[in-house]
Amino acid sequence: MAVKVFIPTPLRPHVGNRESLELEGATIGEVLRSLTEQHGTLRKHLYTPQGRLRNFVNVYLNDEDIRYLQREDTVVSDGDTVSIVPSIAGGSVAAAPPGLLSHEEIRRYSRHLIMPEVGLEGQRKLKQASVLCVGAGGLGSPLTMYLAAAGVGRLGIVDFDVVDESNLQRQILHGTGDVGRSKLESARDTLAEINPHVQVETHPVRLSSENALDLFRDYDIIADGTDNFPTRYLVNDACVLTGKPNVYASIFRFEGQVSVFGLPDGPCYRCLYPEPPPPGLVPSCAEGGVLGILPGIVGIIQATEVVKLILEQGDPLVGRLLLFDALGMTFRELKLRRDPECPVCGDEPTLHELIDYEQFCGIEPEPATAVEEITAVGLKQELDRGDDVFILDVRNPPEYEICRIEGAHLIPLGDLLNRLNELDTSREIVAQCRSGARSAQAVQLLRQAGFRKVRNLEGGILAWARDVDPSVPAY
Ligand SMILES: [Zn+2]
Repeated sequence: MAVKVFIPTPLRPHVGNRESLELEGATIGEVLRSLTEQHGTLRKHLYTPQGRLRNFVNVYLNDEDIRYLQREDTVVSDGDTVSIVPSIAGGSVAAAPPGLLSHEEIRRYSRHLIMPEVGLEGQRKLKQASVLCVGAGGLGSPLTMYLAAAGVGRLGIVDFDVVDESNLQRQILHGTGDVGRSKLESARDTLAEINPHVQVETHPVRLSSENALDLFRDYDIIADGTDNFPTRYLVNDACVLTGKPNVYASIFRFEGQVSVFGLPDGPCYRCLYPEPPPPGLVPSCAEGGVLGILPGIVGIIQATEVVKLILEQGDPLVGRLLLFDALGMTFRELKLRRDPECPVCGDEPTLHELIDYEQFCGIEPEPATAVEEITAVGLKQELDRGDDVFILDVRNPPEYEICRIEGAHLIPLGDLLNRLNELDTSREIVAQCRSGARSAQAVQLLRQAGFRKVRNLEGGILAWARDVDPSVPAY
């Protein structure tokens, strides 16, 4: 198919200053590929290094945005026109020069513009600011939604997860129809709907010691919405090393913490917690649960701190740790001081580059002795033929209330060592939890305690629900 491709003014130098080109292809993707094959220097303007169409580049087939058709798979016909529209103002609105506000933006932000603390100058600061949010989950949801609504010009999000049904109770960036989609794509759609003037940059990677410094350098402020210790220390150290403010928040069950780290003279996360807790001591939200509203409240406090830093207004939470307790509905504040001995932000820092954070947090890559496993289907076969199998459920009582494998004996992992007398070393034991991680620890504990006939149910009760008994609800 031959189609006419219109090239926007800023990109014309790459195509010999032509306004349009005739190109061949069956789909938008093929047409754009032949465009960038013929004009190689265009490639980096249109595509990310990972080969995805950059999200500040909008492509239209005739007068339809391809995001509302089949994106790059949209089929083209002879005589169609394809327009490439850099999207600073959402593609359909006239773009204002950087730092200036269009009429539409002035209408949109009018309640900010009439406040002396924000005003036209503050709104321009917001528009010129860039914030990287680590995680598009519970905290990342209100954080990115409010920052987008407020008009922060460039929002980066790092996440590699897909939306799961169990996320919807708190991660309001994502809706029921997004289950199974990438969180980044879902986030990008939601944020574009809230404010098309915001440039959303998606980074589908696991943040690591290899990529963190390069990612952080490209943004003014980092907002940490992670849920695990290795990433939290990584974000902290990368912020100190790149000199970026780290707006930190964390949540668990009914409690939240917020602070601002990494500013000159202020403390960092390591000044507060020099050492991570031993693995397994502090349960994750997946194990311990979290009140769905909590990340809403805490993430909005985090967003408020980000906006204050951009506007340079008010007193940021530097040197202060805010503790929120939803059950008591209380806020408390603790003083934090920069530790002159801190290995990363102290007077004589010893840490000048990023380290292995999994190792620092005591997380072993793989246990030395592999845990013997059995699949859900294998366990069902053994039970059906009448083998003597003792199923040990190591989850917590509220989880056992939701669902259980018939006949399973409940001893939560934390009680296991005190209740070994309930187990019989001569019997075949299959340990089981939700997904197989805690029960693998249980198997190791039991082996150390002298049990020999003990196996782990691979994939936990989730695998049982999926492969054996669909009447068991997954959670
Ligand atoms: Zn420090």
